[in-house]
Amino acid sequence: MVDLKQQMASLMEEVEPEVREVLETGQFIMGPRGKAFESEAAEFLGVQRAVGVASGTDALHLALRAAGVGPGDEVITSPFTFAATAEAILYTGARPVFADVDPHSYNLDPEAVAAAVSKRTRALLPVHLFGQPVDMEALDAVAAKHGLAVIEDCAQSFGAARQGRTTGAWGLAGAFSFFPSKNLGGAGDGGLITTNEEDVADHLLRLRNHGSSRPYFHDELGFNSRLDELQAVVLRAKLKRIRAYNEGRRRVAMAYRRNLASAAVTLPAEVEEGAHVYHQFVLQAENREEIREALQAAEIASAVYYAVPLHRQPAFADAAGGDACPVADRLAERVLALPMFPELSKEDVERISTVVAETARS
Ligand SMILES: *Cc1c(COP(=O)(O)O)cnc(C)c1O
Repeated sequence: MVDLKQQMASLMEEVEPEVREVLETGQFIMGPRGKAFESEAAEFLGVQRAVGVASGTDALHLALRAAGVGPGDEVITSPFTFAATAEAILYTGARPVFADVDPHSYNLDPEAVAAAVSKRTRALLPVHLFGQPVDMEALDAVAAKHGLAVIEDCAQSFGAARQGRTTGAWGLAGAFSFFPSKNLGGAGDGGLITTNEEDVADHLLRLRNHGSSRPYFHDELGFNSRLDELQAVVLRAKLKRIRAYNEGRRRVAMAYRRNLASAAVTLPAEVEEGAHVYHQFVLQAENREEIREALQAAEIASAVYYAVPLHRQPAFADAAGGDACPVADRLAERVLALPMFPELSKEDVERISTVVAETARS
């Protein structure tokens, strides 16, 4: 699905001496590189503050805590996402409530969200799925009407913007993941929380560091969740090139679109032209399993994100609220993700497209 080696090889010369320096100085966490990365990321994303943490899951969890979400609260989110989105809600003691998604964007449907609001609703947790920004204007309207906090799951959307505003700059906070295969990927786990609120950022600095604002004084229950210096070295090098990486993904997506224009598949929607950063290229097909087998026979990878929506997962089914999510159920049966990374060649995209086009049937 993704080749991480090419990108890393092209950065080796820049990264190697920096890694050596970190190893020689012995300053592995809470050092100058993590700090520098936070300010460079904040500037790139156009937000006031950015706080590095140990993973995207932690970014969601700590952002929800900083928003005051806790036991007795409900948080409305998408059932068509990675498990971490709902896990983070449960970690706070709150309950995830699943609202259905839009059949075209695969993102939370603002009308379904409005219908899911209850007395207990405290926050909305939209996911910019596969790199496509959520309809934030409509969600913000629901949030404003009911006085709810909005925390954005930006794990798949680094660099994506809607109406020129980056994902992660719309809500109270945005949670990013640097899992190696994400658009901006580290050499291990890492995450980042963005916010325009100084007091939220300062609270997050304490939450990630054992609830402490000065050494060995603990103001509240905190966590151990820092972005380490070696990750910061890799992420700073990649951040300089993220625009080109995302353009590369868009180039691959446009090639898939051209090649598959007349195939019996539903291509992913682009709600706003140019806004999608294609963390994944996910189409829909009636005979998905047949296409997967044909791809496998041609030694081409494919994946299904997500085969079991969260409202049907044993881990969440009991705890979660919300009605049926028929759109998410139908997508789970039809979606198919094709290989996607910036360096994927035109020839490979053509070869993959040919297999899909020849096998797809409506
Ligand atoms: C990857 C991902 C996460 C979790 O990020 P980690 O860094 O792996 O903890 C959360 N939400 C979504 C939608 C993701 O894709």
